[in-house]
Amino acid sequence: MSAALFIKNAATDRKQIALTFDDGPHPVFTPQIMDLFKKYGAKGTFFVTGQHVEQYPEIASRLLEEGHEVGNHTYSHPRLKETDPESTKEEIERTEAIILDATGFKTTLFRPPFGSYNEKTLEIIADAGYQCILWSEKQDTKDFSMPGTDRIVDQVIGNLQNGDIILMHDSSEDPVCNREQTVEALTILLPWFEEHGYECVTVSKLLDK
Ligand SMILES: [Zn+2]
Repeated sequence: MSAALFIKNAATDRKQIALTFDDGPHPVFTPQIMDLFKKYGAKGTFFVTGQHVEQYPEIASRLLEEGHEVGNHTYSHPRLKETDPESTKEEIERTEAIILDATGFKTTLFRPPFGSYNEKTLEIIADAGYQCILWSEKQDTKDFSMPGTDRIVDQVIGNLQNGDIILMHDSSEDPVCNREQTVEALTILLPWFEEHGYECVTVSKLLDK
């Protein structure tokens, strides 16, 4: 396999999409998102950081229990483009061990913080047994900047294509953050998907060959 492998979306005719959330788990917003997903029978993928799983292992565990997927998003959220190979490896392995300990789940999905990587990073990710998951070019909601619930909703619906991987955030590097707009956008998006026949699935299911 090529070391330069990363995934931005899935080529599929099915009306399936993957909602993805970075930087959690968060003690307030991740459970709110899980509650909404449960209501609509939707599944999501959460790219968690090792340090936040250490703080909130029971929330990470609940994600798996409720059928969501968890991916590795490093321990301390560095820009991997500027991180030396040894530290990159350690960021991945340390987080893998923490996720496994909290959830019993060995994830094979990895998302680099800030989408920052270079060729060497991709090689390390692949060697560690991970698929590098980015997001659809037009589905970066920039919800972390709190652009307004309507802007988040319009961004997603206005650009929606089958197989999209949609980027959202349930936390940030600093758990003292506000993701109310993200949650509010989901209260509009999830019923909209249901009404229009879109299935929200995990990244692994979306990529299911
Ligand atoms: Zn992140």
